Amino acid sequence: MYVTCLDMEGVLVPEIWIAFSKASGIPELRRTTRDEPDYNKLMHWRLDILREHGLGLKEIQDTIATIDPMPGAREFLDELRTFTQVIIISDTFTEFAKPLMKKLGWPTLFCNSLVVGDDGMIKDFKMRVDHSKLSTVKALQSIGFDTIAAGDSYNDLEMIRASRYGFLFKSTEQIKKDNPDIPAFEDFPEFLEAIRNATEH
Ligand SMILES: [Mg+2]
Repeated sequence: MYVTCLDMEGVLVPEIWIAFSKASGIPELRRTTRDEPDYNKLMHWRLDILREHGLGLKEIQDTIATIDPMPGAREFLDELRTFTQVIIISDTFTEFAKPLMKKLGWPTLFCNSLVVGDDGMIKDFKMRVDHSKLSTVKALQSIGFDTIAAGDSYNDLEMIRASRYGFLFKSTEQIKKDNPDIPAFEDFPEFLEAIRNATEH
């Protein structure tokens, strides 16, 4: 019995902070874990910038609502869910992802959450668990599921390697070169067929 675990950003939707930086006109927010590897530090820095610009959750969600999923992502997910259970596992926050999940037909999403004050400003954030992608596939396996996992980035490799079948999707040349044993796909139709074939074994 399979559950398919998918990364969200870079696979189904654009990188939220980069798209948000463009949509909001705040270039500093393009900074990622490549520039600041300490995720906690990076998030607090981002929240300070949002506060400086007077952006509360509502304003941020309104901006995120102008961002669209990858072309073909909705159709891919709709078809995928006809033959396998699907969980999107992301390091982002439920509140940020919400406008995009609406455009994707409300798939199941496991991610983290924000702490929002009475004034609507984001005060803090709560990470659900360490190594959330790996921890989640292991937990699913512990209750009798086999997992199929796919993502585009370094933080997806653990869940991909821990799964019965794993794929890279829209990944970088470097990651593909470093992981030649993981099948890699670039477009939704061939990715869908690879998952369909895996579920038949
Ligand atoms: Mg990603």
